[in-house]
Amino acid sequence: MSIVNAKEILVEATKGKYAVGAFNITNLIQMEAVVEAAIDKRAPLIIQTSVKPSKFLGRDVLVSIYRTLAQSAPIPICLHLDHCTDVDYCKVCADAGYTNIMIDASKQSYEENIRLTREVADYSHSAGDISVEGELGTVSGVEDQVKVAEDEAALANPEQVAEFIERSGVDIFAPAIGTAHGVYKTKNPKIDFERLGKIAKIVNGNGVKTPLVVHGGTGLPADYITKLIEMGGSKFNVSTELKHALIDSTFGYISEHREEYDPGKVDIAVKDAIRKAVGNWIDILGSEGKA
Ligand SMILES: [Zn+2]
Repeated sequence: MSIVNAKEILVEATKGKYAVGAFNITNLIQMEAVVEAAIDKRAPLIIQTSVKPSKFLGRDVLVSIYRTLAQSAPIPICLHLDHCTDVDYCKVCADAGYTNIMIDASKQSYEENIRLTREVADYSHSAGDISVEGELGTVSGVEDQVKVAEDEAALANPEQVAEFIERSGVDIFAPAIGTAHGVYKTKNPKIDFERLGKIAKIVNGNGVKTPLVVHGGTGLPADYITKLIEMGGSKFNVSTELKHALIDSTFGYISEHREEYDPGKVDIAVKDAIRKAVGNWIDILGSEGKA
């Protein structure tokens, strides 16, 4: 049960009114730490990489370590490719063994978004037990190389959602609802909870068909997260927070142990920081004990 696609764990989460963390990793120590934290909490897990680390570390290396860790883990784990704008690279990662692929054609026209998303969905479904995530509307901020200015971010139109899902063939769906990538500039970001609720009703009101994804998890207040889960969100993407945890723990450890040359100890400091952050997220998402 350990190697799974995203849809199967997210259908369960949507039904059970909890959410699964999709934790963005940029190196292998982070991947191990995320897995250890989820095992500690007996929580289902989505590991995600954006395109840059996938190319830098190598998709085959990432997939083999993912498979090794997942096969011996007592929890279901998915490996997700996040915000890929390149149809060909989506296909390459589907072939390599990623179990969820996000094609992000949200900056294209509505029709072009459907066409590109459909191409990735059809390919991935025939390549294996892989689910596909699509996005409608745009999430502001910077994720990997994908940059969206706040004023060009458009929220998902609930009227279009059912048609988009039907025609694009996606398994899980990310509607833009005002969340942002990076760090929120205010303590109370403007999130359109009602829009998510409306979309959830349209899509999953008569039985869970297409689980809904919330991007831009870093910095969202805990009560916002709880409300977004109530409204129907079941996958929360967390990236920036783990990047900060990696850099800060590395810098902190080295600053305090400047005379020491034991890389393993730096790795332990990083692992501890990541495990703590992920554990905290699992508590907020309510996914502890759900694996
Ligand atoms: Zn995102």
